[in-house]
Amino acid sequence: MKEGYGNQKLIYEEKKAIKLFLWLFYITFFSYDIFYHFVYPKFSKSNITDILKEGLGYWYYILILLALPLAIYLIKKGNPYVVKYIYIYWYILIDIIDGLLTYLGTDKPYASGNIVEVLFILFSPIFVNKKFFWTVTLGLIGKDLLLGVILQDINVLFPVIIFTILSSIASIILIRFNSYIDALTTVYDELRQKEKLAVIGQMAAAIGHEIRNPLSSLKGFTQLQKERYPNTNDYYPIMIQEIDRINSIVNDLMYLGKPKVIEFKNSNIEEIIAYTLSITQQQAERQLVVFETLIEGPLPSIKCDAKQLKQVFINLFKNAIEAMMEGGKIKVNVKLLKGQEMYISIQDEGCGIAEEDILNLGEPFYTTKKDGTGLGLMVSNQIIKDHKGTLKIRNNQQKGTMVEVVLPLF
Ligand code: ADP
Ligand code: MG
Repeated sequence: MKEGYGNQKLIYEEKKAIKLFLWLFYITFFSYDIFYHFVYPKFSKSNITDILKEGLGYWYYILILLALPLAIYLIKKGNPYVVKYIYIYWYILIDIIDGLLTYLGTDKPYASGNIVEVLFILFSPIFVNKKFFWTVTLGLIGKDLLLGVILQDINVLFPVIIFTILSSIASIILIRFNSYIDALTTVYDELRQKEKLAVIGQMAAAIGHEIRNPLSSLKGFTQLQKERYPNTNDYYPIMIQEIDRINSIVNDLMYLGKPKVIEFKNSNIEEIIAYTLSITQQQAERQLVVFETLIEGPLPSIKCDAKQLKQVFINLFKNAIEAMMEGGKIKVNVKLLKGQEMYISIQDEGCGIAEEDILNLGEPFYTTKKDGTGLGLMVSNQIIKDHKGTLKIRNNQQKGTMVEVVLPLF
């Protein structure tokens, strides 16, 4: 969990934790010293010196109490995150000074500080914050080691060993908290993504369905016009091409809504690739892009829905071409993996994808293009998943992007 991201709910949680911590801190701190120095001596014969006369004396308690108004102020101001750090640093500082004043120059054996130190360690997991946990653990152990070195006293090892054991317990609790929170966040994110997709999908399918019929009559009539006036057909090919483009966007939209039933048939992957290449060839030539295909045959047929796979490869080839504004080469490699899976890779020399954007690729409508739809990859991914295959996108080592599709033969 990150701190400081002004989420009201998180601030509220932190406030609850810090208030609980402050109550426990002061109760433990004072009750321990009162018991140890005033109540216990009355019943025991051992000789305990009056703490108010050594070290910082009264000032020790006054200084610890002085942190309270600052803490309350910070909590009220909506910045509760720093309070716990102020306490641990403040306590360590005061305790070192007190320790030095008490023991330096005497041969009194070192007795470790207040039991509140145990509270610090055992309670650090309630803040669900690794940094704070380490500050407490290393701070307290460091304090005792430092006093040990300055005072030349081996007795500091006792609290150091106790703290190490307690920290291990606290760290186990903290790790459990953290992994539980991680799991919750993941589940929540997945759920949100699914819900979003469901809503978008229904909407897309509805709109797509409505557009499809007028679109097909538009195409039909355009074709008729073209045949009727063969001499004035300058614009007809463009009109038909654009209608086809709308059609393919609508198809993508409809796929999001209700994934079609896949019609698995034995198909030849070489044919699918060749067909897709022929479709995208024109666009490639216009952008000075050449394809280099390496088909490591002979290849067995695969059981798939050829029409849908064509849609996938058209999307992928188009993305590769669109990424290469200055032209270049697209390497397409098709081969058999361990005799059971078909492997198709598409390697371009284009702009590549920024590391932080790779995560966004699955999102519907995520696009970096002026007239992109941000549906191509999403639909392609869905189709490949429906074929029980995988689609991976990563940056090419040299330049551009590498897309790898693996499909089972069935
Ligand atoms: P669109 O092509 O309509 O933008 P896509 O889903 O096909 O939608 O792609 C989403 C985004 O992924 C693109 O806008 C682009 O930023 C990035 N992308 C996809 N393929 C490539 C590629 N081969 N090289 C660089 N970026 C790519
Ligand atoms: Mg695309």
